[in-house]
Amino acid sequence: MTKKILPFSKSQMEKIIKEYPTPFHIYDGKGIRKNAKKLYEAFSWISGFKNYFAVKANPNPHIIKIVKEEGMGVDCSSLTELILAEKLGFRGEEIMFSSNETHYREFQKAKQLGAIINLDDITLLPYLEKYAGLPKLLCFRYNPGPLREGNRFIGNPKEAKFGMTKKQLFDGYKIARDKGVKRFGLHTMVVSNELDPTAHIETAVMLFDLIVELSKKLGIKFEFVNLGGGIGIPYKPEQKAVDYVFLSKEINKLYKKKIVANKLDSLKIIMENGRLIVGPYGYLVTTVLHKKEIYKNYIGVDSCMANLMRPGMYGAYHHETILGKENKPKNCTYDVVGSLCENNDKFAIDRKLPKVDVGDILVIHDTGAHGYSMGFQYNGKLRSAELLLKPDGKVKLIRRAETVDDYFSTLDFSSL
Ligand SMILES: *Cc1c(COP(=O)(O)O)cnc(C)c1O
Repeated sequence: MTKKILPFSKSQMEKIIKEYPTPFHIYDGKGIRKNAKKLYEAFSWISGFKNYFAVKANPNPHIIKIVKEEGMGVDCSSLTELILAEKLGFRGEEIMFSSNETHYREFQKAKQLGAIINLDDITLLPYLEKYAGLPKLLCFRYNPGPLREGNRFIGNPKEAKFGMTKKQLFDGYKIARDKGVKRFGLHTMVVSNELDPTAHIETAVMLFDLIVELSKKLGIKFEFVNLGGGIGIPYKPEQKAVDYVFLSKEINKLYKKKIVANKLDSLKIIMENGRLIVGPYGYLVTTVLHKKEIYKNYIGVDSCMANLMRPGMYGAYHHETILGKENKPKNCTYDVVGSLCENNDKFAIDRKLPKVDVGDILVIHDTGAHGYSMGFQYNGKLRSAELLLKPDGKVKLIRRAETVDDYFSTLDFSSL
C-alpha cells in the first residue's frame, strides 16, 4: 500500500492559484532529493554507482539541476536534450547518449561533448565512424529478443525496435575493438514501469552473464553495465514501491557470484531511471469547470490530455484528490475529462470520488515524469506552467505557461 499524501494543503494551494492560475504541474523538490539520496545510499556498495536521469521524463532545467546536485548524470536521446545537458553544465561522461534512428548531427554533438555513446544498432558503428569518428569509449544496447519476456509496458523484446541481437553484439564489440576502441559498456532496457524487483534482478543476471562471456571471448574489458531505467512507481494506492535496499542486495549477491568471481570487479553499475526519480513528486493541479450528466456523469476540468497524456495514451491510472475532501466518502462515480475533441481525453474513467462541485481543485498525482514532457498543442491547447515547491513552502515558477503568441510564433501571417 502506498498512501497518496500531498506535500501541500488546500489553503496553501488556494494561495498559489491566486498567483498562478490552473492548470499547472507542481513539483516537490524536497521529495525528489530525499528519494535520490535513498537510491544512492542503497547502491553505495558499488563504487561509481550513478543514475543517468532520463531527461525525457522531465526536461525542466530546475528539476535536472536538483538531480545533478544529488550526483546524477543525464541520459539524453536527442540533439535538444544534449544541448540542454550542456547548458546545465554536464560534461563528458556525465552524459549518456542512448538514441535510436539517430541523425549524424546528433552523434556529432554527443561526440563533441564527450558523452558516452550507446549504439542502438550495429549499422550505426560505420555511420558513427564516418560522421563523427569512433570515441575511445563505446556502449551497445542489447535486445535479448526471444531470450527474455519483457513486460506489459515495453512489450515483448522480440517486437521491440530497440537494441541489437546477441550475435550483432558480439560482432559489434569485435569490430569496435579492432578499430581501436579501448573502453566498453553494455546496456539494455527491456522493461518499463516495472514494480516487480525480480524483473530488474533478471536483467542484472542477463547482463552480468553476457559481460563475462564477452570479456572472455573477445578479450575486452567492460567499465560499466547500464541496467537501464524502467523501475516502476506505485501509481495506484494498492501498489508498493520497489524496495531499493532489497534490489541492491540481490544485485550485490549476483555481482559477487558472477563479476567478482570472474575477476571483472572494476565493473561499475549504472542505471538510467527517469520515472522513479521524479514521477511521484509531480502533481497536475486543475480546476473543475463543469459537471455534465448524460449517460454517464462527467467532471470537466481546465486541463486536458495535452497536459498529461498517459491516461489517454496508455489507459494509465493516475490517482486523484479533491482538495479539502480527502476524508469524505468516495460515493460518486465520475469520468474526469478534459476539453479535447477526442474521446480518449479522460484522466479517469468510472472513478470513485467524493461528490465533486464546480470550482473544486482537483489534483492529479504522479505527474512528475512523462507528464509535462509529453505535452502537445493539438486543438490549440497551450502547455501549462511548471512550479517548484521549495522546502520552505514557497513556490518558484520554473516554466511559464505558454501564451497564444507562443502558439503563433512559428507562423508567418504576412506571407499569406
Ligand atoms: C525512457 C527511457 C528511460 C527512462 O525510463 P523510465 O521509465 O522513465 O525510467 C531510460 N532509458 C531509455 C533508453 C529510455 O528510452
